[in-house]
Amino acid sequence: MIDSHIHLSYKFFDQNFPYIEYVGEEFKIISDGCREALIEEMKSCGISCCIEPAIDVDSNELILKLSKESDGFIYPAIGNHPTRCIRSKIRDFKRVRDFSKRDGIIAIGETGLDYHYERKEQHRLKQKIWFQWQINLAHNLGLPLILHIRQADEDAVKILRRNRKKLHGGVCHCFCGGADMAKIYTEEFGLCLGIGGTLLMKPDYRNQLERAVITTPVEYLILETDGPFVKPERPDDVSGKKWTKARNTSLILPAIAEKIAELKGMAVDDVIRITDENVRRVFKIKKLTEDV
Ligand SMILES: [Zn+2]
Repeated sequence: MIDSHIHLSYKFFDQNFPYIEYVGEEFKIISDGCREALIEEMKSCGISCCIEPAIDVDSNELILKLSKESDGFIYPAIGNHPTRCIRSKIRDFKRVRDFSKRDGIIAIGETGLDYHYERKEQHRLKQKIWFQWQINLAHNLGLPLILHIRQADEDAVKILRRNRKKLHGGVCHCFCGGADMAKIYTEEFGLCLGIGGTLLMKPDYRNQLERAVITTPVEYLILETDGPFVKPERPDDVSGKKWTKARNTSLILPAIAEKIAELKGMAVDDVIRITDENVRRVFKIKKLTEDV
C-alpha cells in the first residue's frame, strides 16, 4: 500500500505522541509512539512508501532531509500550501525554485486554492499568484501537481483550464466533492482523486464523496491519509479529548481501501493493487524488485 499524502516531518510527529491505527476493523489509539517507531510500524504493516508534500516554505527543507534519511520510503514534493502563501515573501519564490532543483523530487505541491479561511480578496489573489507560479514550475520540470482545493472549485477549474497544456497529471488531494466535480478533475484534466479520512467520517460529511467514489473509475483513485490530519469518525469507546490529541497515520489506509471496495463492489486486494499502480504511474515511482 502507498500513502500518497502524509506529513511525516510535521511537528505533530516530533517527540512522543498518541496515534491511530486500524486493527480488527476498529480504530485504536497507540498511546505512546515516536516518528521512527511509526515509520517502522508502517513498513511492517505493508506500507511500501509514501509521498510527503510541502506545507510552508520552510517545510521543504525538513521534508528533503527526512526523505534522504528514509532510504526510498518517503518521496518528497516541493511547494507552498495555499493557506501559507499569505505569509510568504518575494524571496520565497526563489527558495521554492531552489528546493525544486534538488534530487528525487516527484511532484510540486501542495498548491491550489483554499477559501475556507481566506475570505479577503487580496489573500485569495496571493493564493492565485502562487498557484499559477507553481503550475509553471511543475510544467518547466515536467512534474505532476499535488492540488489542495477547498471551497474554491470554480476559481481552481478556471485556472486549470487556462493552463491545460501545462499540466503533467497529478492529484486533487483530500477530494471531498461530489460526482460532478470528480468528473471534471478526472476526465477534463486527467487528475486522480486522493481519497482519505473523509470517506470514514459521519454520513453528513461523506455522502457526496461516496457518490463520487461510486461513479469515478478506480483508475482515477489513489489512497491517502493527510496524517496527522483528517481523522476518521471517532469510535464510541474513545473520548473526544483522546481522539483530538491522537495523530492520524498511514495505518488507517486498509480502512479506506475497504470502504472503497464496499462502495464499488470490488475486492479489497484489487482496490489496493490498482490504486498503488495509479500512484506509481502518476508520480513515476518505480516498483522495487523485493516489493511485490
Ligand atoms: Zn496535506
